[in-house]
This record gives sequence, C-alpha cells and structure tokens, in this order.
Amino acid sequence: MVDDNCPVENDSPKDRDSATSDSTCDKQVKRRDFIGGAIGAVCAGAVGAIAGAPAVHASGKFRWRMVTTWPPRFPIFQTGAEDFARKVKLMSGGRLSIDVFAGGELVPPLSVFDAVSSGTVQVGNGAAYYWAGKAPEAQFFTAIPFGLTAQQMNAWLYYGGGQKVWNDVYAPFNLVAFPIANSGVQMGGWFNKKIETMADLQGLKMRIPGLGGKVMNKAGVNVVLLPASELYTSLERGVLDALEWAGPYHDMKLGFYRAAKYYYYPGWHEPGSVIELIINSKAWNSLPKDLQAIVTAASTEANVRALAEFDSRNGEALEVLVDKYRVKLIKFPDEVLRGLHGLADETMTELVESNPKVKKVHDAFMAFSRKVEPWTKMSERAYMEAKGL
Ligand code: CA
Repeated sequence: MVDDNCPVENDSPKDRDSATSDSTCDKQVKRRDFIGGAIGAVCAGAVGAIAGAPAVHASGKFRWRMVTTWPPRFPIFQTGAEDFARKVKLMSGGRLSIDVFAGGELVPPLSVFDAVSSGTVQVGNGAAYYWAGKAPEAQFFTAIPFGLTAQQMNAWLYYGGGQKVWNDVYAPFNLVAFPIANSGVQMGGWFNKKIETMADLQGLKMRIPGLGGKVMNKAGVNVVLLPASELYTSLERGVLDALEWAGPYHDMKLGFYRAAKYYYYPGWHEPGSVIELIINSKAWNSLPKDLQAIVTAASTEANVRALAEFDSRNGEALEVLVDKYRVKLIKFPDEVLRGLHGLADETMTELVESNPKVKKVHDAFMAFSRKVEPWTKMSERAYMEAKGL
C-alpha cells in the first residue's frame, strides 16, 4: 500500500524509494480532507495549463508561481506560504508577485520538486525529505531521528555553514533553498497500547513514515502506511495500534484523542522539521539584488513566525486535550528512548555507508551537532532544569 507517498502533512510521506505515480497521488489529494474541508478538487485540468510558463518580465516586474505540497488551507504551512507571498509583494511594491497553489492545484504534491527544478514554475514549498528518493542526503534538511532541534537547525543553516551544504546538494537540481517554517519538536504519537519496554513495540501496527518508520521497523514494529483520511478510523477500529502525525494543534483537529488511549512524547523521530522554500536557480539569478534580499528576509521572517505559531497553538491545544478531553500524556520510558536511539544510529550508519553523498552531508551535520550540543546543554537545557521543567 503506497498511499502515504502523497504528502499532506509535515512529515515524510514514506520511503521515497518506492515510486508512486502522480496520478495516484493526485487522486489521494482529491479525496483527502483536512480539518473537515475537502481538499481542492482542482488536481486535474490545471496541470495542462502550466507548460511553458516563464517568469513574466515586464517593466522590471516579476510574476512567479509557487506550488506547495500542502492541502489548501493547511494551517501554518500553507497559510504561512500565502502570507510570505503577500509580504513579498507588499515589500517589493508589487515588483515581485507570487501566486501560490496548494498541492494538486497546479501540480501533484510530489511533483513540486521536479516542477521547480525544470523551471516549469519558479518556486516550491514542501519538505526536503519528501525528495529522499531523488537525493537521500536531502533528509538532513528537514529532520532526522534524534537530530537537531528547530533552534539548532536555524543555527546550522543561518550561521553554521548548513545553508551552503544545502545549496550544494540542490545545485545539480537547479535549485536554491531557504528554510521557511519549522514544526518544532513533534509528539511521539497516539497509542492504544502502553509502551514500557522495547519488547512492547514488537508486532505493533503503527503509521510512522520516513526514517522514523525505518527505526521502528528495526524495533519490530509493523509499519503501516495509510492516507491521512483513513488514519482516524484505522486507529478507532484497531487496524492501527498507534500512529504519529504532528503536534497537539494539528493532532487535535484530526480527533485522534477520541480513538487512542495514550499520547506519547517526545517526537524523537522529528525533533524540528524544516519546511523549505525552493527556487529555480535561473529564476533566482534573474532577480535584482534588492528583490533577492526581500525574498531572503521574508522567508526568514516566515520561518521564525511559523515556529512561534506552532509553540503558541500547540500549547493551547495541549491544555484543551488534557483538561477537556482528559488525554493521558506519557513520556516514552528512558529505556525505550535509549533503544530507539541505538536503532536510529544503526539506521543512519547503513544509510551513510550506502551513499557517499549522504556521508558528506551527515559529516557536516554531525560536526555542527558536536559543536552546538555542549552549548545547548548548559544554556537551554540547564535553564529548563533550573526552572524545574
Ligand atoms: Ca510527523
């Protein structure tokens, strides 16, 4: 079953090595709901209209199109992309306007990378680990299990050399990239079975995509991939014993608290997922410096605001989940987290050994981790401990 190849949320759709046709993905987007609203029924039809659509240059004005991997109205990611476009237009006095299309409105979600790479459209918005099938090393620019937090990722990308490594990875694809949002640490997921030891994971049926899924698979979990629209009923009917989605804000909207007994934390598999803005390098190079500066500044602002919105909305939602819906929050036992960490290291070693490009990015990522983590330990962590958190 490959439905999960069609990304609708802020995590990896699944192992990108498996191919899913655009038409399959297209159908899924059409039938998926998010927050009660039908996903746009405009997948077909619009695609044919985009051929040969260069940026419009007239009197120094540019008109770009941005395609995203998100459903229409998808909170924070899609709404953030639209807010970014509005601000770029305002700040540039209308010299750069970007029309934003949700997943499936112009191209299927999984065609975003190719559409921007080929120059069919100028801009894309999604997550680098969706393209793991084309470039497994891209996964580091979203999140890896037990990897960097949002704050640490921003440090790496903006000041630690990460941006250059990212641009080097994307250069062969004619792309430049910027972080444009971050989910922060996600939740570990909804479970109908208590997880007290690693043995409790054996045979568990769980929806968890990406590298996290590979780690869980090593732990004996039967990783199930289902489309978003089927998650709630699958959990309720016992087709799934567990699933992970995002954080309290998005999870509450999907109603998982009505179908699961326990809500586990932390999201060891997605400690701070970066959402990317990708721009076709020819389109980027055609922009005058001031417009490039506006795009850079607006994406940085969007990145900061998205994390702030997540923290704010997750905090509010968590309160409702606990106070109103009586959700039982449980931290994964240390033994389980240690076990998963060991399996994550094993998964990463296999990936690094299989691909020199992965190794190059991995080494840069780990070098930065080693540099930033001692500081995190005596700043954020020590402070939180001192505060009693
Ligand atoms: Ca997730």
